[in-house]
Amino acid sequence: MVKTAEKMVSTENDKVKITIIPRFCKGCEICVRLCPKSVLGMEMFKVKVVDVDKCIRCGQCELRCPDFAIFIEKKD
Ligand code: SF4
Ligand code: SF4
Repeated sequence: MVKTAEKMVSTENDKVKITIIPRFCKGCEICVRLCPKSVLGMEMFKVKVVDVDKCIRCGQCELRCPDFAIFIEKKD
């Protein structure tokens, strides 16, 4: 059986790339509540990026997600 890669959804600007793996996200909202800049929100019980330009790349979302469903990539 061939395994396919997990579907990823990325949102980016020139400073940061935020990647979400929707299948891993259990919709616990931990990252939404921890994000100091209201970058993240919920849609259909999954996390989504509301405003990538507000992200200060603190990494709290990635660090605290219990399901490894969100990743931050700093660009500079
Ligand atoms: S902390 Fe992880 S599992 Fe919970 S809503 Fe955020 S991305 Fe989804
Ligand atoms: S890195 Fe920080 S500011 Fe950016 S989305 Fe995650 S918690 Fe919010």
